[in-house]
Amino acid sequence: MAEQYDIAIVGGAMAGATLALALASQRRPDGGRWSVALIEAHPSAEPHHPGYDSRAIALAEGSVRRLERLGLWPALRSHAQPIDQIQVSDRGHFGGLTMTADEYGVDALGQVVELERVGPVLWQALSRHDNITLYCPDGLASFSQQQDRITLTLNSGTRIDARLVVGADGTGSAVRQQLNLGLERQPYHQHALIANISCDDHPGIAFERFTSEGPLALLPMNDRRYSLVWVQSPGEAARRMALSDNAFLTELQAAFGYRLGALTKVGQRVEYPLALCRAERTTHHRCVLVGNAAQTVHPIAGQGFNLGLRDVEALADRLNAALQSDSDPGSFALLAEYAEARAPDRSRVTAATDALVKLFSNPVRAMALGRNLGLLTLALFPDFKAGLAKSAMGWSGGRPR
Ligand SMILES: Cc1cc2nc3c(=O)[nH]c(=O)nc-3n(C[C@H](O)[C@H](O)[C@H](O)COP(=O)(O)OP(=O)(O)OC[C@H]3O[C@@H](n4cnc5c(N)ncnc54)[C@H](O)[C@@H]3O)c2cc1C
Repeated sequence: MAEQYDIAIVGGAMAGATLALALASQRRPDGGRWSVALIEAHPSAEPHHPGYDSRAIALAEGSVRRLERLGLWPALRSHAQPIDQIQVSDRGHFGGLTMTADEYGVDALGQVVELERVGPVLWQALSRHDNITLYCPDGLASFSQQQDRITLTLNSGTRIDARLVVGADGTGSAVRQQLNLGLERQPYHQHALIANISCDDHPGIAFERFTSEGPLALLPMNDRRYSLVWVQSPGEAARRMALSDNAFLTELQAAFGYRLGALTKVGQRVEYPLALCRAERTTHHRCVLVGNAAQTVHPIAGQGFNLGLRDVEALADRLNAALQSDSDPGSFALLAEYAEARAPDRSRVTAATDALVKLFSNPVRAMALGRNLGLLTLALFPDFKAGLAKSAMGWSGGRPR
């Protein structure tokens, strides 16, 4: 006999866990709540967890507001480092751009969090809700769609019935594959090399530097550390992964310069191949994709989870309305409305990020000149810059409530 739920979420990393928490706290005046099953292949504190690894990500100001609204920010704040200023520069060229929190009347332009610290916080919060059942470690093996429900079979053999299945299972989404939903995949032939770096200075500034190899970002973290994301060709990434710590720091210092003083220590290095992946559709009968399962973007503009969290918020809002009116969480109307509402933001962010990757990875001189003029224009004309800041702060789809 299958266990019965309203909603089953496959994948309990950033998108799946935040969605489960958003749904678990929704309640009707008569006390009715959603029953939620969350299926995750890896325990949250597992080393090398695919969703909660040593990556640090920048949360836009809008995402922080969204997490506040979900009641999650108080627990995450102590693990976060505010970004007071963003400095963008182009190695070997004269263009540059600075954005400060003061200019935009906010406390911080964004916050940097380490996913391996966020994971256990989110999972502790999940375990406090008696209307969430955690299936972990366990994985989705297969599912079958019936008119009024979906039956999922897990690797353990457990069977679950749900009225709605959410695929929050990342770029290689098993839910998306089971549904045979098309995927547009465009490899960038670039790898992101990430590592934590210790340095002399720690001014709370996020740096993004464009080099002829690709962008290099350093995000401020606590304990006088910076999180490095260095985009480069697969060959260079492999070579730099094999360097000694000292040789690696010497190359990084040469590429980045001395804005942070001497770079003194590097932690474990990890490499990610980069590609744009976009599901052709995000909904199917009683199924919906959110986060990286729906779209995976290049980290150049730090938009991935910020975009995924807007999926989560939009879906949670519609499911809350369904709860209040005691209607079907997997109805065609609800899913169609969700897909339509998310389409413009998805296509704008994926297209803009792709265009940025192409612009800033191109070593051709005319392009370099063009982008320097672009950066200078942004620096000199605050109206243009305001557009960029709005996007960086995650307000493009409207300032969060
Ligand atoms: C180098 C780098 C830097 C980045 N920087 C930023 C940034 O600054 N700002 C930003 O917003 N974003 C950034 N991102 C993107 C961000 O990290 C991702 O968008 C986000 O973490 C994706 O979360 P997710 O939950 O959608 O997917 P994932 O993290 O991929 O999680 C999927 C989860 O599903 C589970 N799973 C998979 N298959 C199954 C199955 N069959 N059964 C059960 N469970 C399953 C996995 O174990 C995993 O826990 C960056 C990404 C990279 C690579």
